[in-house]
Amino acid sequence: MARLSEIGEFPLIGKIKSDIEVPDGVTGIGDDCAVLPQRSGYETVISTDMLIEGTHFLMDGITPYNLGWKSLAVNLSDIAAMGAKPVASFLSLALPKDMDSAWMDAFIDGYKAIALKYGSPLLGGDTTGSKGPVCINVAVTGEIPKGRSKLRSAAQDGDLICVTGCLGDSAAGLHGILNHRLQERDFLYRRHTLPEPRVGAGLELGRNGDVHAMMDISDGVASDLRHILEASGVGAEVDTERIPMSGQMLGYCAAHGLDPLEKALCGGEDYELLFTVTPEAERHLGVTHFVIGRIDKSLPDVVWKHSGRDYSGFRHF
Ligand code: ADP
Ligand code: MG
Repeated sequence: MARLSEIGEFPLIGKIKSDIEVPDGVTGIGDDCAVLPQRSGYETVISTDMLIEGTHFLMDGITPYNLGWKSLAVNLSDIAAMGAKPVASFLSLALPKDMDSAWMDAFIDGYKAIALKYGSPLLGGDTTGSKGPVCINVAVTGEIPKGRSKLRSAAQDGDLICVTGCLGDSAAGLHGILNHRLQERDFLYRRHTLPEPRVGAGLELGRNGDVHAMMDISDGVASDLRHILEASGVGAEVDTERIPMSGQMLGYCAAHGLDPLEKALCGGEDYELLFTVTPEAERHLGVTHFVIGRIDKSLPDVVWKHSGRDYSGFRHF
């Protein structure tokens, strides 16, 4: 087993650099900066996210391939949430010197697989030693026609509130991983460790002027929806019976005495998109989605309805 300290920083960067398809006119890894041409009439969106071993992931809770995938996936989800198209990504790593180089190879394979899938080539980064945990920082850039970014502050009275997919799978997956009840091939394991950022849906919704506010669900819809409401100065009514939940998640929760609604509303890390749209436009959306509620500016906060009853007093979230 080779250690990273035996391989050295520059050969490692050489490995990272291999087989990356750099678009025409772009300068990637190897110079002091990456150089990206600008398209006139477009804006650049930029986001970055840090993952620390022991805080955001456990070495024995995720395979290195899946960790490489997820490190970029969570960033691409932010690009999708703006309605933008991915352009490039940057990866900074702080690694213990005794790190197994096979772990690193698998990590880079996972990273490159999702970079290729969603068109976010790796154009730079930094590599340093760490005396503590593994730290992974990814930065992404995207582009969008000027003024078209979907902001959290744009929700309007009467808009329907929608999500692009089932909620709670990731939280149930994490529970299963921590309690050693899931295998790598299991649906819930994959939903937690190999999330698919909704890049295609984000682009489609981004082009639609009747889609108003948008964000991705990283903390759980109960908390994330509040960000839209606060930024937009409105309230909302949500019907908890319309929250989409997968059969696998419902089955797992039933088998282990867990509350599926709590996982779906508060679990987080689903990386589905949460957006608001006019009722007329909702009928013609060419994107898989589920209506879960409605923006109502006369309400001070979120009213959670269940079986037609006001369930807001029932706040375990
Ligand atoms: P500098 O000292 O000028 O910052 P480095 O020696 O750190 O340059 O890096 C050399 C090149 O390798 C740069 O283009 C940098 O962006 C790239 N690079 C370094 N680490 C990584 C990484 N983990 N992933 C991708 N590119 C990297
Ligand atoms: Mg450097």
